[in-house]
Amino acid sequence: MPHDDDAPLRIAVVGAGPSGFYATEALLKARDDVLVDIFDRLPAPFGLVRYGVAPDHQKIKSVTSLYARTARDPRVRFLGNVDVGRDVKVDELRRYYHATIFAYGAPGDRRLGIPGEDLAGSLPATDFVAWYNGHPDYCDVTPPLDGETAVVIGVGNVAVDVARILAKSADELAASDIADHALAALRESKVRDVMVLGRRSPAEAKFTTKELREFGELENVDVIVDPADLELHPVSRERLAEQSTERRNFEVLKSFAKRPAGGAARRLHLRFLYSPRALESDASGERVEALVVERNRLELRKDGSLGAVGTGVTERWPAQLVLRSVGYHGSALPGVPFYERRGIIPNDRGRVLEEPDGKPVPGWYTAGWIKRGPSGVIGTNKADALETVGRLLEDELPTPEDPRPQAIDALLARRGVDVIDFDSWRRIDRIELAAGQEHGRPRVKLVSRAEMLEAGGPDAATLEGVEDAEGDGA
Ligand code: NAP
Repeated sequence: MPHDDDAPLRIAVVGAGPSGFYATEALLKARDDVLVDIFDRLPAPFGLVRYGVAPDHQKIKSVTSLYARTARDPRVRFLGNVDVGRDVKVDELRRYYHATIFAYGAPGDRRLGIPGEDLAGSLPATDFVAWYNGHPDYCDVTPPLDGETAVVIGVGNVAVDVARILAKSADELAASDIADHALAALRESKVRDVMVLGRRSPAEAKFTTKELREFGELENVDVIVDPADLELHPVSRERLAEQSTERRNFEVLKSFAKRPAGGAARRLHLRFLYSPRALESDASGERVEALVVERNRLELRKDGSLGAVGTGVTERWPAQLVLRSVGYHGSALPGVPFYERRGIIPNDRGRVLEEPDGKPVPGWYTAGWIKRGPSGVIGTNKADALETVGRLLEDELPTPEDPRPQAIDALLARRGVDVIDFDSWRRIDRIELAAGQEHGRPRVKLVSRAEMLEAGGPDAATLEGVEDAEGDGA
């Protein structure tokens, strides 16, 4: 066993999202003498489950009850509202912990690199998602919903989420835990047409079938697919025979194409083989008015994939809201190596490397999207975190100067950081759930940091009889 001093192994996990919790769970299962501190810069745990998963996908969110069980293990502490990098530097963590696992996700967006991308009304889908999910840093995004047409660029599951939220009625959304400010704005929305745009053909789309099928179940929404978009490249057709998700997607799209348009209040158009080329402004020069797209054809690349190639034929689509949903991108944490092109921390199966293909940095590990890039579903992070923890437990770890848990507490107290621990979070959780109960909703989210800190503080009211997320009552 590489770690041989008598003190328990002290591990810092940076990021309280799925990968941080799965890494913690793996550590707890692997050994008894381990103490894990999970840091998050937000006062609330659960990362992308709280702030990324769509509010009308409550079933997916129920995974938080497993994370809450991990957090309640006496060997685990949640240190919320602590910004690693600002409140405590990454190098300072070495003084208190044998190892640090960076699992802070990939919250940034990817850009299209086309003219007009920064006009008002053009924004990353990631901002829109964070806004409707009540992320404290995105309350002021205020996407303009006063135009009739919104375009969503990209055909992954995030594109499907944002298109569905735009197409659903406010009454349907009111049954979810969507942030109150977003519900109020969407109630006033004038959007009637939501266009979802794929640059390749339906057979190359990234969404999953369950998510696609949901479009067809929306109340008062016509789903429109042009049968011409379903004529496939011979290679796509061949591949459909081997790829079950793509094949099922294609069947669903065929069924949409056969549906008669029913004069519904909103229309959701799925368009394929178009690339965005430019966003045009209105007379003010500031606000998006139209998207210029180019018709594509597919071409077999040397690597065997099918790439989109412009045909030179362009169209101009009026659009007052353009959401680019072309993937997330990780960002650097000061002091931690970063591989800019891929938006990840360079690593070898979870061991942080000084540079891509470089030497490992002793005691530093990474898990989740910031380790492998923004792909996969929540469960994918379990195997990913297990791989990282496996490497950590194999390695000779540096010995920290002061591994006592109270030492890091004292440092944060000296710096005036209001730490939200798991009991404080449970107070916030109960307040949100109680407000939800009152309004027939799963929860009403507290959005601002100030509200959360007040609700989580020791003087916050206790709510007798309100079940918390783990279902054991207050
Ligand atoms: P994604 O699945 O990688 O999809 C990105 C989409 O953007 C692709 O259709 C891609 O097309 C397109 N794209 C990229 N660059 C483009 C460009 N320059 N012009 C036009 N289109 C472009 O990413 P995501 O939707 O952000 O999802 C991230 C991960 O989260 C995925 O693994 C997803 O499954 C997961 N997720 C899951 C759920 C769920 O399970 N319900 C919900 C949300 C997210 P190409 O294929 O042609 O590159």
